[in-house]
Amino acid sequence: MRPFAYVSAPDVETAVEAVSEHPGAKFLGGGTNLVDLMREGVERPVTVVDISRLPLTEIEELPDGGLRIGALVRNSRLAADPLVRSRYPVLAQSVLNGASGQLRNMATVGGNLLQRTRCPYFYDTAARCNKRDPGAGCDAMEGFSRSAAVLGTSESCIAAHPSDMCVALAALDPVVEVRSVRGTRRFPFAELHRLPGATPHIETRLDEDELVTAVELPPLPPAAHSRYRKVRDRASYAFALVSVAAALEVRDGTVADVRLALGGVGAKPWRAHGAEALLRGAPATEESFRRAAEAEFAAAVGRSSRTGMPDSRSGAESAPGGQGARAGNEFKIELGRRTVVATLRRLADEGSKA
Ligand code: SF4
Repeated sequence: MRPFAYVSAPDVETAVEAVSEHPGAKFLGGGTNLVDLMREGVERPVTVVDISRLPLTEIEELPDGGLRIGALVRNSRLAADPLVRSRYPVLAQSVLNGASGQLRNMATVGGNLLQRTRCPYFYDTAARCNKRDPGAGCDAMEGFSRSAAVLGTSESCIAAHPSDMCVALAALDPVVEVRSVRGTRRFPFAELHRLPGATPHIETRLDEDELVTAVELPPLPPAAHSRYRKVRDRASYAFALVSVAAALEVRDGTVADVRLALGGVGAKPWRAHGAEALLRGAPATEESFRRAAEAEFAAAVGRSSRTGMPDSRSGAESAPGGQGARAGNEFKIELGRRTVVATLRRLADEGSKA
């Protein structure tokens, strides 16, 4: 790891001033992603501003029935909060499906919003990677792409967004609050993450000196009946091959409201607006769910299982289909469709029994 200067910030003002005074400085919260990246030589900040002591650790009920979640709330606390569990179970489930207990005890909500891809070439400084080294090329294109995205990719980058929590948030339409020396601004979560396009190294719409201070969830009654389903190579401590965050409200056999977001398949947390539009007002049947899933994945682009190289870093030793199936990601398209259908079917079944 390269030497770096360390600043401990006692309050938000000091933190944002310190970062604005030190170009290239990074905020350090739980450190579960940044420290790994620094160890691998992918991130090389000259200055690290420790924000772990800032008073951003509360989960507060808002007058309209929503929730305000401080950026330094630990993931384990978020998942255990009674209001989160009852009003937004999909969010609690998504967090519990991510990482390990130890990591969830350290990782923060703000850090989770900004965690970086787990594309193996991004972490390998000997590999070509446009996200780490703009203009260098992308070794994933003809290499191991099992973990890569099939929606929202570009000719420059096919990396998948890694966060489970962000998939649930994408379905819930929260607002993100950020602070800098220029003041506070708030914007929809849907505007936070960028698609890679020709500039995959620019991952969010945040300025470099902006600190995430909170996420605010709106009141959303359908979210009380929601679920997060994750398909992965191991039962725990593995990133999603495909995940689905869904909330479903059925009245008289018809879909009255639905929220649907996908993980493991998108270059950013993927809100399935096309599928939602088809589902609203449709019969709550497997046929409708299948049609919506097919529409959402119609633009998906997968890579052949024969183009990729076998790779022991994948953690995919249990993958079906032998050596070739480990390398490509085209299997995610049908797996994604089926996971959408299974998740909605389960929510519909539960709703009819309630
Ligand atoms: Fe880098 Fe993106 Fe290519 Fe992975 S897919 S090597 S992150 S440019």
